[in-house]
Amino acid sequence: MVSANNLIAGKWTVGSQGERSVVSPYDGKQIGTYSVPSLEQINTAIRSASEAQKAWGRLPIKERSKVLFNFRNILLRDIDKISKIKGAECGKVFDEAKAGLMKGIEVLEYALSIQNLDTGGKTEVSRGVSCEYRREALGVVANITPFNFPAMVPMWTIPIAIALGNSYVWKPSDKTPLTSFFIAEALKEAGLPDGVFTVLHGGHETVNAIIDHPAVKAIGFVGSTKIAKLVYQRGTQLGKRVLALGGAKNHIVLLPDANLEISGVGISDSFTGCAGQRCMAASVLLAVGDTNGHIEQIVKRASSLELGKQMGAIITKEQIQFLNNAIAAAEKAGAKVILDGRKAKAPPGMEGGNWIGPTILDNVQPNSEASKVELFGPVLSIIRCKDISQAMSIANSSEYGNACSVFTSNGGLAERVAREAQAGMVGVNVGVPVPREPFSFGGTMESKFGHGDITGEQSLNFWSNYKKVTVKWEMQSDSNWMS
Ligand code: NAD
Repeated sequence: MVSANNLIAGKWTVGSQGERSVVSPYDGKQIGTYSVPSLEQINTAIRSASEAQKAWGRLPIKERSKVLFNFRNILLRDIDKISKIKGAECGKVFDEAKAGLMKGIEVLEYALSIQNLDTGGKTEVSRGVSCEYRREALGVVANITPFNFPAMVPMWTIPIAIALGNSYVWKPSDKTPLTSFFIAEALKEAGLPDGVFTVLHGGHETVNAIIDHPAVKAIGFVGSTKIAKLVYQRGTQLGKRVLALGGAKNHIVLLPDANLEISGVGISDSFTGCAGQRCMAASVLLAVGDTNGHIEQIVKRASSLELGKQMGAIITKEQIQFLNNAIAAAEKAGAKVILDGRKAKAPPGMEGGNWIGPTILDNVQPNSEASKVELFGPVLSIIRCKDISQAMSIANSSEYGNACSVFTSNGGLAERVAREAQAGMVGVNVGVPVPREPFSFGGTMESKFGHGDITGEQSLNFWSNYKKVTVKWEMQSDSNWMS
């Protein structure tokens, strides 16, 4: 049992709004608790974050980076322990939980390179006058994260925001609050001063109190589109910078010339990985022309997955019900269920958990729920298309813009999809086109509110201010600095 309390001014503090239990999607058994802070406790936490930031922000980046380097080594040392608890609370199988943390560590390694790569710039702009860029911390920044990546999504922002000299307030998902304890402990052990890192639990009341606090200068959010919009509106109305990543409905264009094995593995793994609970999962397969052989490969691989070992569980029973209803509605609307995950059995001993197997729906209609609504489960909707133009028009009619991939052996057609897709992240023969550092992560349209991206190079300007300093030390009076 893990107790996840609130990290306030460097001390684990029981939230006075009460304790809640955390159950594992694997078997429905309780694995821990978390406690929710009062408004007073939240305000104390943010005041302390603001105080701590003053000294932290004044340290040279090389000194801040030393702490983050320790943090990296501690995470690598404890990776199995953290991955286990993370998998248990969000339903991921161990290898997936570990891979998510490894991706977070990759962002941390990028943050460690900021000290060497982001050296600003200085130019003599006029006789005896120079202009210089200086990157400065914002102060206190906050981040609100979803259930599906309890370590990776927070790690998209923690290392970069802290390396740049900010204090960081994290509100983990109330469905998966336990991992935060281990990440915070690793930062403490690494030598991060008290108050620079804060953890506050709870739901919308905690989020609203964080957004509204005047010391919080920037808010990152990752979660559903509905809540992303609320957070974006609330923060920007207060004049704060907000980057809010929302939901997704990702398309894969499958062309008849695609390599059978690469597309079979890539597409199957994309919609079944993390049991479909990731914002980059394939959701709609736009099958152009005769791709029956490819679809057979996808069905074969997906149907071979062993639940509990190769594919994890679904976060809640309500979500299982939602998926079952969506599959039934698709059937009613004329789709054919060619792989039916509703028949899958829970792994032995895990009957109390939330299980559904990979599901593939063929002949889905372009405007039906299964082709438009984010399902967030291991369900692939196949829409048959006569040509690539029709496929792109369906992909681009989505309100979301996270990911779009194409499987083909024709470079020209791949380039056409990359050019025409409205999604922010495009894959060519890659089913989950998550950019690796230093390339940034971020979608478009209803998948992202705000400017810039949440990781990589494009995130630096979000987590800092770029100051411009113009200096004249040559004391000649015959010209002004604009000359
Ligand atoms: P969610 O929107 O329900 O919750 C996200 C966070 O918001 C949690 O911390 C939650 O406690 C908080 N929250 C919930 N209700 C709130 C409210 N009314 N006001 C303020 N805060 C509130 O999302 P989820 O179910 O945890 O995660 C799944 C969703 O996240 C999916 O839609 C998925 O596509 C999306 N997601 C997107 C990305 C991306 O990069 N675009 C990455 C991961 C997940």
